[in-house]
Amino acid sequence: MKAVIVCHLENDLRNNFGEAKKIPLEKQTFEHVPKLLNWIGTLKIPITVSVMAGGQVGNRLLLALKEKNVKIPNNINLGIHFHAENFTNSKWQYEKPLELPAYENYYNQFVQSLSIKPKTVVFGKWKVDRQAYPLFAKLGITHDASNILPRGIINPPANINGLITVPGLSYNGQPVNPLTRLSDFLLTKKIISRYHNKNLLLHLAFHSYDFFSPQNPTHWRGIKKIIFTDILSQLKKHNVEIVNLENVNSGKNETLEKMPVPLLGRLFQLIGH
Ligand SMILES: [Zn+2]
Repeated sequence: MKAVIVCHLENDLRNNFGEAKKIPLEKQTFEHVPKLLNWIGTLKIPITVSVMAGGQVGNRLLLALKEKNVKIPNNINLGIHFHAENFTNSKWQYEKPLELPAYENYYNQFVQSLSIKPKTVVFGKWKVDRQAYPLFAKLGITHDASNILPRGIINPPANINGLITVPGLSYNGQPVNPLTRLSDFLLTKKIISRYHNKNLLLHLAFHSYDFFSPQNPTHWRGIKKIIFTDILSQLKKHNVEIVNLENVNSGKNETLEKMPVPLLGRLFQLIGH
């Protein structure tokens, strides 16, 4: 087994609650971002950080990283995380993808703000937009980490229209995030301990805000750090190599179709979070 770890770097969740939902842009902050990047730096393993552009955030996160002169630790590879939602009829609508010029515009702003040409992309809400692939190929983007397949738990990377897609860990067609659900945490641990000798590529994804309190986004949720470092120590214990998303090759890995979920894991899945 090898592993790829991708963090979707986003705004905080403060404005997802109550009245603040109606003030979508100005209430968003990125106060947790430098804290998280610093912490990831101390982990000394390759992690792809996919910076959100578009949707609720527009170009504000890119500008904030530039203006605050946020230092990007050496173990972080930056990618771009396109969001497309727009605020109509008093709520965020997620149906329509970005137009091609908008992708290119955000890409250019990314390069200007961070002085890096991103090679990897993640679509918001896992909504893959294959129409954009030819443009991405032209821009030098090589990998898309947004695929959640309806079947299988771990699916191998594939070359689709010139981009290597790296499907995320999923169960019953839903993304698995060990930081948000206890059942997902147990499932992830079980997969690592049971299948680490197999030729599988485990793609773990999480959000930057998963580590912070939604009410006070500068406050760490310590339990999330413990969960994350526990997963990392599992990977280390079983000699799972962590690789950069942009170094993943297509066509060399197996599929994990299904597995018996531990009773405790099933129970927690029924209970929910
Ligand atoms: Zn996102």
